[in-house]
Amino acid sequence: MSGPTHGRYAGIGMTSARTRDRLIQRLQEQGIRNLAVLDRIRNVPRHIFVDEALASRAYEDTALPIGHSQTISQPYIVARMTEALIEGDRKIGKVLEVGTGCGYQTAVLAPLVKKVYSIERIGPLHKRAKATLKELGVKNVMLKHGDGFEGWKSQKPFDGILVAAAPLSVPDALFAQLANKGRLIVPVGPEGAQQLIRFTRRDDHIDREVLGPVAFVPMLGGLT
Ligand code: SAH
Repeated sequence: MSGPTHGRYAGIGMTSARTRDRLIQRLQEQGIRNLAVLDRIRNVPRHIFVDEALASRAYEDTALPIGHSQTISQPYIVARMTEALIEGDRKIGKVLEVGTGCGYQTAVLAPLVKKVYSIERIGPLHKRAKATLKELGVKNVMLKHGDGFEGWKSQKPFDGILVAAAPLSVPDALFAQLANKGRLIVPVGPEGAQQLIRFTRRDDHIDREVLGPVAFVPMLGGLT
């Protein structure tokens, strides 16, 4: 049998349902309320996205290494960003994600929106994410090996933009590709002093809300 509730995806021991339930409880205690988001965190097999040697730690609420000096995002942060993006009654259409990494955030987000367009600048991570998301049967995503500073012009405008690496200031291209009423969730600032910000476009002006301090890898230009 295959599928998210069977075999390798279901998990055993430190990757079992009981371990995952403890993570969900912890996220609720920290203020995550959106049930659809909590359900995704419970059901996406995070242990499939990390090296086998780290599988036993996959349901701890921490970032873990995925190679190339990058990390899989902390579950709390993935939940917080996803919640901030989809909040409200309106079903979100197209979402641009900058920083695919291993594809974990992409997998959590995909069924909650119409389509995810995700960009990663590191070639091998892009390739691996593509294979993992295919294996998990996540269909409404398009992945690109590219530079997120440029956004994804041919697919604009986006109802949501979610950035998983921290720029020093928000790239103009991202504001330019945000639809009216669209939301941009982005960590901004230098290492040690980043804030997670939610920008919302309202006709000709952009609202800015500070969601709190965070620690992301820096957003870097160019491809590798
Ligand atoms: N959310 C991801 C992890 C993100 S780590 C996950 O769950 O796995 C941040 C990622 O952003 C890294 O993979 C890094 O290579 C990528 N990144 C940094 N700058 C970028 C840029 N300009 N364009 C695209 N990706 C970028």
